[in-house]
Parts: sequence; structure tokens; C-alpha cells
Amino acid sequence: GQSKSLSICGKRNMEQRAIKNPYRDYEGTPVCTQGLFDQQGRLTPDFAGRLNNKIGELLARMENGLKSADPGDCTGYTGWAGIALLYLHLYNVYGESSFLQKALDYVSRSLRCLTRRWVTFLCGDAGPLAVAAVVYHKLQRKQEAEDCLNQLLRLHQSVVKGDSRLPDEMLYGRMGYLYSLVFINQQFQQEKIPMQYIQLICDAVIASGENLSKKSRHQERSPLMYEWYQEYYVGAAHGLAGIYYFLMQPGFGVSEDKLVRLVKPSVDYVCQLKFPSGNFPPCIGDTRDLLVHWCHGSPGVIYMLIQAYKVYGGEHYLSDALQCAEVIWQRGLLKKGYGLCHGAAGNAYGFLALYKLTQDPKFLYRACKFAEWCLDYGKHGCRTPDTPFSLFEGMAGTIYFLADMLQPLRSKFPAFEL
Ligand SMILES: [Zn+2]
Repeated sequence: GQSKSLSICGKRNMEQRAIKNPYRDYEGTPVCTQGLFDQQGRLTPDFAGRLNNKIGELLARMENGLKSADPGDCTGYTGWAGIALLYLHLYNVYGESSFLQKALDYVSRSLRCLTRRWVTFLCGDAGPLAVAAVVYHKLQRKQEAEDCLNQLLRLHQSVVKGDSRLPDEMLYGRMGYLYSLVFINQQFQQEKIPMQYIQLICDAVIASGENLSKKSRHQERSPLMYEWYQEYYVGAAHGLAGIYYFLMQPGFGVSEDKLVRLVKPSVDYVCQLKFPSGNFPPCIGDTRDLLVHWCHGSPGVIYMLIQAYKVYGGEHYLSDALQCAEVIWQRGLLKKGYGLCHGAAGNAYGFLALYKLTQDPKFLYRACKFAEWCLDYGKHGCRTPDTPFSLFEGMAGTIYFLADMLQPLRSKFPAFEL
């Protein structure tokens, strides 16, 4: 049975913090990037070789470690769907069919223990179903792919229902379901799921946000407002920045009027929550500038800022995003380890996002340095996460990131970035 507690990212855990960044920052000279990449941003054979070797080594350790993992956790966040997603990624990067076979093995395990309760990509059943649909599709097992898609779409009704008590955030809410539909379309490379499905979810999320903004008297400052477990979270995983990142995506059917009248002032409200350091609080009203994670703080908010810059222009969005990158560089090598959700690998994706936007080698350099940190996996005295081999807390996520480092311009924070 399912007695697992929810994955609430360690907002209250105050013992963590960063390890001092030991690396010299980018100096703007070819000398400092020597050994990492050339002037076109192509990785040197030496550095790519180090990444490849470490990927192979960590994969073997992960496979061994997974023998003692929770057999009944289907999720992308800590369970089998996350491992399947890693192998699907490795198949996409390397093109080796053995990786696709591994993805099939793990996603099949995942499908056998669905939560029957949660609906999102990362913590619910949409992740297993979406990853399975893609794996079957790539194996040309059409009927099984269609079966998974139909099961996935059957959850849609409950997600858009106005009176449902479903939250709106990424890990357990509407946006976490929406991601699974976009994932399908990206991986199938066609509009397999009609965009109306996505638009209906955005409509429901906006209605929910307007409603709470009024009820909580935020209307004047932020026309949209979202909560999760009675708190107004700010970051990418549970909060406002993650939700607005999706609402600002072109083609999701949010009208120009809503983008200007509702989303933009709400994004600007998040911008005003910035600490003097450039970091962001985990929740509205929390004045402690402690957490620099994808789930809480600048490494997650940076995606909202970059998207706002693309959609609305406005140099302040870009300068806030650049400031996020400074915070990540200074404080992003975490005692919590090397994972995606609250670890060095996840934080490095913030640099890759800025590199993709600006093509400034400084950000590729910084991502490479965080990758080097991950090459020394386990040597910094970091704590061991609860699920040490999982995609979002553990080793699978680090491997996912190292593989993305082989193709920086195509990199995407998994289960989130579009
Ligand atoms: Zn986290």
C-alpha cells in the first residue's frame, strides 16, 4: 500500500547550506576554458571523455544501488519512472538501443505500482504513463503507446475541473500534469495531444489563481496567487515561479490580454520578493536568505525570469536572471549533494539556461565547473539523500545532467524546462 509521505522539499531543514566554491570564475580568456571547450563552445575530447567515463561509472553504481530501492515507488521524483526517464535521455543522447530497453524495463516496473492518487509527471501517475507512451512509441509498439496515452488523457478531466481541490504547482498540481502532455508532444515531435488540452489546463490554473488572489487580498499586488499546504511558495517546484514559467509559454493558449493584465504583474510581484543578494525566498514572508535550490530560490526562479525576458522584453528580467546566476555560482555547491532538486546538478542547469539565452561562454564555463564538481561525486562530505539513486534527489539526476553537458545547447532541466 501507499503510506509514503509527500516529497516536500527541505524548506525547514536548516542544517544544509553551501560548500565554498573552490573554482576560479570565468576570466574571459581562452586560457581559462582550455581543456573544457573551444571558442565555438564545443567540448574538448578530453572533457567529453571525462564526462562519458563518469556517466558509465555512476550508472554501474546506480544499478547496484537500485537493488535496495523502494520497489513500490512508481514516481519520476524518487521512483522507477525517474530511472526510466534517465535511460530515455541517455538513448536520446547516445542513440544506443540498450538504453531504450532499460527505459522499457524500468517504466514497466513503474506502471505496475501507480499511485492511483496523484496526477503529475513527477509525483503522480502522469509521469509513468507519459514516459511509457514515449518508450513504446520509440519501440514502434503502437497499440501499447496508444493505451498509455488514453490512460494519461483520462486524468485530464479531473485536472481541469474547477471545483477540484487539486493544487496548481509542479510536484502535485495542475502544472505537473500539464508538463506530461507537453513532454509527449516534444518527444513524439508532433502535436499528438491537441493544444486545446493544454489551454484548458492553463485556463483552470488562471481561474484558480485569480480566485485565490481575491480571497487572500493580494489583488492589488498580484492578480494571480497560488498556495500549497497553506503557504505561498515562490520557487519552481511548489510555487509561483514554476507556474508562471508555464503560463508564459508561447502556444499554450494564454491570451495576450491575460498575459499582460494577469501574468505580467504577478511575475513582477515575484521579482519584488528578491533578496538583496539576488536570491529569492522559499515562501512569501520568509525573510531568511538560505536556500539556493531548484525547488526553492534563484536556481528555479531563473527560468521564470528568462521566460519573462523573452515574452515581455524588459532588461530588468535579464539582470535579475544574471544575478540569480551569481548567487548560484557563489552558493550553489550544496551540502545536500549532487542531485537535481536540491543539489549541484540541478543548480548547474541555471547556467545552461543562461548559456542557451546569451551564448556567453561564461555560463558554459560555470556549468562545466559544476560538472567537474559532480565528477568528484561523493568526495566533498555531502549528506546522502533519502533516495540516493533517484532522479530528483540522487545519482540518476547527476548522470542526467552529465549527459546533458555533452550537448549544452540542447540541455533541459528534466521534467520541467521546455
Ligand atoms: Zn528540492
